[in-house]
Amino acid sequence: MISRLLLQTLSGDKMSVFLFHKVPLQSDPLVPAQVDLARFEHVLDCTLSQLRVLPLEEAIVGLQNRRLPRGAACITFDDGYPDWITGVLPLLRRRNLHATFFITSGQFDGVPLWHERIAAAVRCLPGPFLDLGVAFLPAQSVATLAARCLLVQRLEQELKYLTPTRREELLQQLEAAAGVTPEQVPVMTEAQLRDLYSQGFGVGGHTALHPILDYCNASEVAAEIGGARERLQAIVGGPIHGFAYPNGRPYADFSRLHVDAVKQAGYRYAVTTHWGVARATTSPFQIPRFTPWAERRWHMTYQLARNLLVAPVQVAETAV
Ligand SMILES: [Zn+2]
Repeated sequence: MISRLLLQTLSGDKMSVFLFHKVPLQSDPLVPAQVDLARFEHVLDCTLSQLRVLPLEEAIVGLQNRRLPRGAACITFDDGYPDWITGVLPLLRRRNLHATFFITSGQFDGVPLWHERIAAAVRCLPGPFLDLGVAFLPAQSVATLAARCLLVQRLEQELKYLTPTRREELLQQLEAAAGVTPEQVPVMTEAQLRDLYSQGFGVGGHTALHPILDYCNASEVAAEIGGARERLQAIVGGPIHGFAYPNGRPYADFSRLHVDAVKQAGYRYAVTTHWGVARATTSPFQIPRFTPWAERRWHMTYQLARNLLVAPVQVAETAV
């Protein structure tokens, strides 16, 4: 009760947007940091139950018109995973909660998310060492589960900041070493995306191949931002208004050029991964988001209350 009061008091004229990614039905020992379905349900029932969950687009309009209810919160997911269909969707429906899903469109053309390819390959690597012969990755042990977990983290960190072409080369090298192919990685199907959309959930763009936009040339930026929007619209048969910047940190992962490209592509709003809350003065093209990770209820409430006090960093936008 006290925590509800605290959150309601701190949240006037502010919009909290929660960010989740893959929510596996059971936790994956190779990626233990992922929020699995049981933990996600805990967040829904312990924290989000104390807030007023609204559809993201509706909340943005309310914020701008200064008609946002106290405790306003939105739920978002990034990337696109088939696990959502049987996992999070029934949990959300049962509680009558809306969520918006930002989807990478490349998976509908047979290209799984690059970090999913890493996990699938590392799982199958023969031991006891991996040596790809690249300078930033000296020979690594894969003899134990702990070593493989570390390798997944290391590869994700290193491959994240490569150009799409160089990243693809290394992924293919890794897959060859593991004896696997990208086709073995589960992806969302067009029918699953249409199903999600037809249930009333929001769908937004999240590029085609999930590159760091600052590492893309102009034609890649256009394809990743505008091309992905057209692809998703063709699949769901309706307009796509929202976009999520890959990796999402202002200045580090995207800049003014990309905010401009998002506007030019016809999106109406965009979300980042910078923590904090949106206020009426926050640009609708740089809405901050937050993921609570604590396990205990009081700790999660503390994280959320603290997030309500954070003013997000935003890149300077081109004046219109
Ligand atoms: Zn993402």
